[in-house]
Amino acid sequence: MNKSIQISADFDGGNIKVINSSSPNNIELEINKDHKSDFFQWFYFRVTSKKNTSHTLKILNAGSSAYVPGWEEYQAVCSYDRKNWFRVETSFNGKELEINHTPKQDSFYLSYFTPFSHERHLDLIAQSQSSEICSLKSLGKSFDGKDIDLLRIEKDTNKLNVWMIARQHPGETMAEWFVEGFLKRLLDSTDSLSTKVLAQANFYVIPNMNPDGAFRGHLRTNAKGINLNREWENPSLETGPEVFYTRAEMDKVGVDLFLDIHGDENLPYNFVAGSEGNISYNEQIANTERIFKESFLKATSEFQTEFGYELDKPGEANMTVATNAIAHRFNCMSYTLEMPFKDNNNLPSKEFGWSAQRSQLLGRDMLSPISAVLDHLEK
Ligand code: ZN
Repeated sequence: MNKSIQISADFDGGNIKVINSSSPNNIELEINKDHKSDFFQWFYFRVTSKKNTSHTLKILNAGSSAYVPGWEEYQAVCSYDRKNWFRVETSFNGKELEINHTPKQDSFYLSYFTPFSHERHLDLIAQSQSSEICSLKSLGKSFDGKDIDLLRIEKDTNKLNVWMIARQHPGETMAEWFVEGFLKRLLDSTDSLSTKVLAQANFYVIPNMNPDGAFRGHLRTNAKGINLNREWENPSLETGPEVFYTRAEMDKVGVDLFLDIHGDENLPYNFVAGSEGNISYNEQIANTERIFKESFLKATSEFQTEFGYELDKPGEANMTVATNAIAHRFNCMSYTLEMPFKDNNNLPSKEFGWSAQRSQLLGRDMLSPISAVLDHLEK
């Protein structure tokens, strides 16, 4: 093996296995499965080699990953400083993902999407509390001993309770970038819309539901290989303490609006998915959904309603999914928001694709539809 090329992923969120790194023109890699699971798609690693040299990296097992269509029209993200991430030439032949890049520095990082580190998560939790209306409640510990952090933005007199959770699927890092943008606006005392909604509702925000999976470099599961978004019908401390603690707190506080933030591997659009398959779905929830969507469309051209998941048929909802379970339990509007790993094809950016920055801005802009829903619920 040529020692001049080194590839490492032994850091927060890292994931890659080196098969062959003898030549810059044929670096062969595999993505590791999530621990105790068959899911894999998330990768994040550093290459140390020679600048101004053309590199070809192949992910050999891409064709058997969790979401194979996710590689079509997909471009990997690259960074030198782990702050600025840009897209690099990537192609998929149905079997292998090939990434081509001629680095300007000896060492560079490649990832499935812009990472959101545990350190950044801790900073977000700490900085949010510089607002005097925001407090931290640690709901409990994960299997790896990490805190399940809930930010509470409360004023005693409020009756409505808005919940937002993100990163049940840890590889969907855009979800925490989104929450960062959302909180920045919500806690900005000079923002008039924030002032308005904070007079109407308390907010309960969990920026990272799955800190173990995030740190371990998983796509979809926690430390025991469990998909948290299939745990909501009967949450258990044995398999998903993250969901168990969260739902227990929801029972204490109450939920009037629930938003679950995700990323979708396949579809190059932002979209929402609701609880229309629930037996308890009703006209009131349908109305609230309409108000939310209309307001979101006005607030940002990054949102659209043409492309999305097929609607569940009445009575056919999967009740293990958070959105359906919470809508049913609290008789409230619940939405899953999906952002793309690829790009928003209505407003494509060749250089950056969908990005951390755009996720933050979408989080900022979601305050408008939340405000519209609160006005409606107060009536
Ligand atoms: Zn997801």
